[in-house]
Amino acid sequence: GSSFPRPVNTRIFTVANQKGGVGKTTTTVNIAAGLAKAGLRVLVIDIDPQGNASTALGVPHHAEVDSVYDVVINDYELKDVVQDCPDLSNLRCAPATIHLAGAEIELVSLVAREQRLARALNRYLRECEEQDERVDYVFIDCPPSLGLLTVNAFVAAGEVLIPIQCEYYALEGLSQLLSNIELIQKHLNPELAVSTILLTMFDGRTNLASQVAEDVREHFPEQVLNAAIPRSVRISEAPSYGQTVITYDQASSGALSYLEAAEEIAERGAKSE
Ligand code: ADP
Ligand code: MG
Repeated sequence: GSSFPRPVNTRIFTVANQKGGVGKTTTTVNIAAGLAKAGLRVLVIDIDPQGNASTALGVPHHAEVDSVYDVVINDYELKDVVQDCPDLSNLRCAPATIHLAGAEIELVSLVAREQRLARALNRYLRECEEQDERVDYVFIDCPPSLGLLTVNAFVAAGEVLIPIQCEYYALEGLSQLLSNIELIQKHLNPELAVSTILLTMFDGRTNLASQVAEDVREHFPEQVLNAAIPRSVRISEAPSYGQTVITYDQASSGALSYLEAAEEIAERGAKSE
C-alpha cells in the first residue's frame, strides 16, 4: 500500500555524476523501485549504452530491442520502446542498447540535438496523462560522461539527483559537474535544479567516509538526504538476478535504506509544491 505522497506534477530526475562506479545506476533503479512499491507510477529511462539499469530492472536490452537510441536518433515515440518491468507493476523502463554508444556522434549533426529526449518525454507524459495514467516520477540514468546524451537528460529534467560515494576525491569531481549544470541552466534549461544528493556505499566505521559525509552535508545542507546507503552485498548481488534490492531482499539494510531515501524524496516533493 502507498503511504508516499503523490507529487502535484510529474517530477523528472536526471541521475548524474561524471564519475563511474559511484552508484548512479543502483540509485536510479532502487529509488524508482521504492517509489513504485509505494504505489507511485514510475518510469526509468536508461541512456547509458551499457544498459545496466535495464538489466537490473529485468528488461531485455540486446541489440535488436527498440530502445532510447531509436527515440533520440530515429524519432520513435517513447511509448513504442517502453517496457513493463516484470517485478513491480507500477514500474516501466525505456531500455538502453549498445547502439547508444554511437548516438553521441550521431546526435551532433541532428536538429534540436539537445532537446530530442525532452520532446519525446513530454509527448509521452502528455499521452499518459490523457489516458488517466499520469506518471509520478521519471528517473534518467546517465552514462559517466558529460556528452550530448547527458545534456539531453539535463534538458529533459527538472531536478538532478547526484549520488556521491564517500571517498577522498568525491568533492573534486563534484565541482566540474556543478559548473556543467550551471551552463545547462544558463543556455538550455533554466528550470533545472540540483535538488537531491544521496550518499552511497557509505561505511560509517571509517573516519574518511564520515569526514567526507560531513563535508558534503556542510556544503549542501538542503540537498543531502538524511538516509545514506550503506555498503551492502545484497545491493550488489541483486542485478545479477535482474532485480532491484527492493524486490530481491526487501528486509536487507540496503533495501530499507533505499526505501527510506525514496520516501524522503517523495515527502520533500510534496512540501515544495
Ligand atoms: P554507476 O552507475 O555510477 O557506474 P553503479 O550503480 O553501477 O555505479 O555501482 C557500481 C558498482 O558498485 C556496481 O557493481 C554496484 O552493484 C555496486 N554498488 C553500488 N552501490 C552499492 C552498495 N551500496 N553496496 C555495495 N555495492 C554497491
Ligand atoms: Mg551506471
